[in-house]
Amino acid sequence: MRARPFGPDRLNVPVIGFGTWHLELTDRNAAIEAIYRAVEAGMTHIDTAELYGGGEVENLLGFALEGIRERVFLASKVLPEHASFEGVLNACERSLTRLRTNYIDLYMLHWAGDHPLEDTIRAFETLVDSGQVRMWGVSNFDEELMREVVRIAPGRCACNQVLYHLRERNIEHGVIPFCVENDIAVVGYSPFGSGRFPAETAPGYDVLADVARARGATPHQVALAFLTRLDGTFTIPKAARLDHVWENARAGDLKLAPEELRRLDEAFPRGPRRPGIAML
Ligand code: NAP
Repeated sequence: MRARPFGPDRLNVPVIGFGTWHLELTDRNAAIEAIYRAVEAGMTHIDTAELYGGGEVENLLGFALEGIRERVFLASKVLPEHASFEGVLNACERSLTRLRTNYIDLYMLHWAGDHPLEDTIRAFETLVDSGQVRMWGVSNFDEELMREVVRIAPGRCACNQVLYHLRERNIEHGVIPFCVENDIAVVGYSPFGSGRFPAETAPGYDVLADVARARGATPHQVALAFLTRLDGTFTIPKAARLDHVWENARAGDLKLAPEELRRLDEAFPRGPRRPGIAML
């Protein structure tokens, strides 16, 4: 599994992590097994949120990670409506209880809301000072909002988690360059468009399949390798099926050649720059 420095602390984090949205809908034992296998396979960056299953997924992780917590880079998110100073502290306390741990490695604001960013960031820093959070970040922030974060707290934000898949590459225009320049990790979510992609009927699929065949890989693995080709980028596919878990983890060893990247770039063009940020 390839790993690279994450955020200003430059902690080495695997390029492919494990998403957990909707994991509460999977049979409980199967979900626990999938989490355990993901960690075993090297996808030790586990992404969750207080939102997922209304706390159910954090509960599940608390159970599944018992005994292996120290091996995991655990990320969770606070909802924007809880992002006042007091709200963040209380939400984090609830997440810690559900996760059955005394620290979260990466705590993020799920998306920008009405509470002043200064208050949210002050709460994040308070949590860092108390040791309940190792580093903090944001999610679904466009370049303008990222500039605001850096203005408020230079050198402090560890990541921006954003939508990124072969059909949604707008962040390559501004968000990724800005983040890389400022030592902020870019964690791409929904690398398979929440399961809708890459579809065999989609334009460009033949190129994906061709590259995959030549490398003895699968189209999904090639997609993950493409999405983690740039410095500072990470991806967090969700998989409940154990064969998917294994397949995704193995993509962490796949490095595409310049000619393969060129063909994929052409088959899945990033398109002209659009303002704002795409969200699921
Ligand atoms: P995704 O990772 O794009 O796709 C998940 C779907 O793809 C599942 O149906 C899964 O099936 C299937 N799949 C996984 N690996 C596969 C493989 N190798 N071959 C074929 N199918 C495969 O979806 P996502 O859950 O939307 O995104 C990933 C994670 O990003 C989330 O779980 C969450 O942690 C995070 N996220 C964050 C935000 C945000 O606002 N910050 C928003 C959305 C998502 P099985 O489950 O049956 O294996």
